[in-house]
Amino acid sequence: MAGSVWLQVFNRLFHGQVFHKEENKELYGKCKRQACPVNFYRSEMDTPSCLKCPPHSTAKSVGATICTCVSGHYRTPGEGPQVACTRPPSAPQNISFSLSGTQLSLQWKPPKDSGGRRDVSYNVECAQCQGIAPDEGLCQPCGAAVHFSPGTKGLTLPAIQIDGLEPYANYTFRVEAKNGVSDLDPSGSPSATLSLSTGHAEPLSGLSLSLVKRGPRRLELSWAGSRPRSPGVNLSYELHVLNQEEERHQMVPEPRVLLTELQPDTTYVVRVRTLTPLGPGPFSPDHEFRTSPPLSKGLSGGEIVAVVFGLMLALALILGFLIVRTRRRTQKQKRQRECPSDGGDREDKLWLKPYVDLQAYEDPAQGALDFARELDPTWLTVDTVIGEGEFGEVYRGILRIPGHDCFTVAIKTLKASSPDGHWWNFLREATIMSQFNHEHILHLEGVVTKRKPIMIITEFMENGALDAFLRAQEEQLAPGQLVSMLQGIASGMSHLSDHRYVHRDLAARNILVSQNLCCKVSDFGLTRLLDNDRDGTYETQGGKIPIRWTAPEAIAHRVFTSASDVWSFGVVMWEVLSFGDKPYGDMSNQEVMKSIEDGYRLPPPVDCPAPLYDLMKCCWAYDRTCRPRFRQLQTQLEQLLDSPHTLRTIANFDPRVTLRLPSVSGSDGIPYRSVSEWLESIRMKRYILHFRSAGLDTMECVLELTAEDLKQMGITQAGHQKRILCSIQGFKD
Ligand code: ATP
Repeated sequence: MAGSVWLQVFNRLFHGQVFHKEENKELYGKCKRQACPVNFYRSEMDTPSCLKCPPHSTAKSVGATICTCVSGHYRTPGEGPQVACTRPPSAPQNISFSLSGTQLSLQWKPPKDSGGRRDVSYNVECAQCQGIAPDEGLCQPCGAAVHFSPGTKGLTLPAIQIDGLEPYANYTFRVEAKNGVSDLDPSGSPSATLSLSTGHAEPLSGLSLSLVKRGPRRLELSWAGSRPRSPGVNLSYELHVLNQEEERHQMVPEPRVLLTELQPDTTYVVRVRTLTPLGPGPFSPDHEFRTSPPLSKGLSGGEIVAVVFGLMLALALILGFLIVRTRRRTQKQKRQRECPSDGGDREDKLWLKPYVDLQAYEDPAQGALDFARELDPTWLTVDTVIGEGEFGEVYRGILRIPGHDCFTVAIKTLKASSPDGHWWNFLREATIMSQFNHEHILHLEGVVTKRKPIMIITEFMENGALDAFLRAQEEQLAPGQLVSMLQGIASGMSHLSDHRYVHRDLAARNILVSQNLCCKVSDFGLTRLLDNDRDGTYETQGGKIPIRWTAPEAIAHRVFTSASDVWSFGVVMWEVLSFGDKPYGDMSNQEVMKSIEDGYRLPPPVDCPAPLYDLMKCCWAYDRTCRPRFRQLQTQLEQLLDSPHTLRTIANFDPRVTLRLPSVSGSDGIPYRSVSEWLESIRMKRYILHFRSAGLDTMECVLELTAEDLKQMGITQAGHQKRILCSIQGFKD
């Protein structure tokens, strides 16, 4: 036993000594490698060489086994020494919102600096505040009634849908950007905030009108909303008053109004809606009020004569009306032969059912199906892409409904990647379109909502959008054809305004052209997304406005009426007569708005018939009550079609009221590098050879040209001479 103990002691001493010897030898070898210099590290002793510190880390002393992160940079516990140090992201950028009913969509751009990581996510906080700015009074976290989709924490996409907000309340949303190292940073995550007031976030269903007092020529009305008026919210009201003969739109600051100059013993239909800084709310239901009968008394001799005279005048008016109507019907039949469609409401009705805005529906999907028919996607064959819409691609395709002939259709699709909230904005266009049936309004065939992609199927218009069509056809269309196209658009717009539908985005790009040049109004998507900037739109708090096409009162106060659509129609006339030119050329939106306010208007397009330019100017009357109605425009265009000789007089450029666009007069000095560039800009390129043959090669040469010179060069048309000389004069002024 004692011997074995001694043996163990011996073994331990002997082998221990040997072991230490071996270990020392190895260590000695390693120590012979140089220690890593500053800003290099070797994490394992058996690593052959030193490694440079990864980005945003340092090793301040020699022989480091790890580089430490520089200030503000971190590694997560799972990240090894070879991984770069990273920092929290910067704040999200450009938060924008769109509000529709009680649904709010927030979108933002990712942070400028992701901190060097790919795992950026977002947290959203919602607070209801007393004032609009978050520091104005108390804020409290939003209650349980507010619903967030997809959630409030760890959002990977820069968007969120929020539902269940209260009307007329102030909210502040804080969007915080985070990444894997944000929790290691003591200064917290950077964030961006957006404060807004919801305005009419909820339909004011209880807005009800009541009669205060009535007389033969006046009605005094008042109304009350279901909700109290919030003190910080700037509300006003828009009133529509209609009877068989007239339509009034009136803005009032208080929930009461006195309507005067009415007809005695006549029923008026009145509806009202609120206007908030975010835009108008839905209309109240229609209420009927009747003025009292005229005060009766015995008629004097003079009055009897007046009555007889009045009766005779009325008789003459009725006769005149019958003659005009018969003439119109004949013209209409002629036009329908040229512009056939599948029938429907063709009568000139002054009193029609107003269109229904499905925004008021609790379940918009159900609302959509109440109006548009659901098509089986197997009936559709998709062909080629024909355009890019706001929500996705537009295709040409074939619709084969069992038991019916097949025909070509346009298929608008909703991108699969669209956020959930977009489908309703997309389908809304179909629900509006389905309520109209007119030869100059794009016809809806149906929708596909039960399977993805969601689709809207309409009749196919072979010549596509009017603006592009005009540019391709430049000067190959006769004035008569242009007037006929405009007459079609005016007729479609009359139908819309009869149904009290205000389009708000009437422009050549939103008119489609069929094979036989029949023009149809399209694009009924009221809600524009905020992230594209085509067509010179101008963003206001309530969405985008196409400034160049929009009436001043609609830009300034967001008052959109059929009269503001008439203004846009004037701009469409200008686009048509200038073969798709951009209204106001290179002027900025701000310059356009200022010039309009200063009383300036677009100049007549080249060779524009004077009566057409006169109509445009009427559409651009600053006072909207002075603008013509669509039905009047339609009639006047019909009259021009019947008397084509009236189109021969060419409109004058009046420098007192018309803007000096480069295409008309040039700006300061001579802004053109060559004669050809100048002629192109004033659409007189056809005369380039005349100028060359006359040896007029430089812009300096053309400055002294006179009407006589032009005549000698073979430029004899008075309108063309005028345009060229006017432009030259512009260089000199
Ligand atoms: P936008 O914001 O441009 O108005 P959108 O979603 O309303 O987008 P549309 O303008 O209706 O989309 O369609 C985009 C393009 O597709 C049009 O400019 C046109 O060229 C083509 N297109 C749309 N509908 C039709 C149709 N029914 N027939 C022929 N082409 C069509």
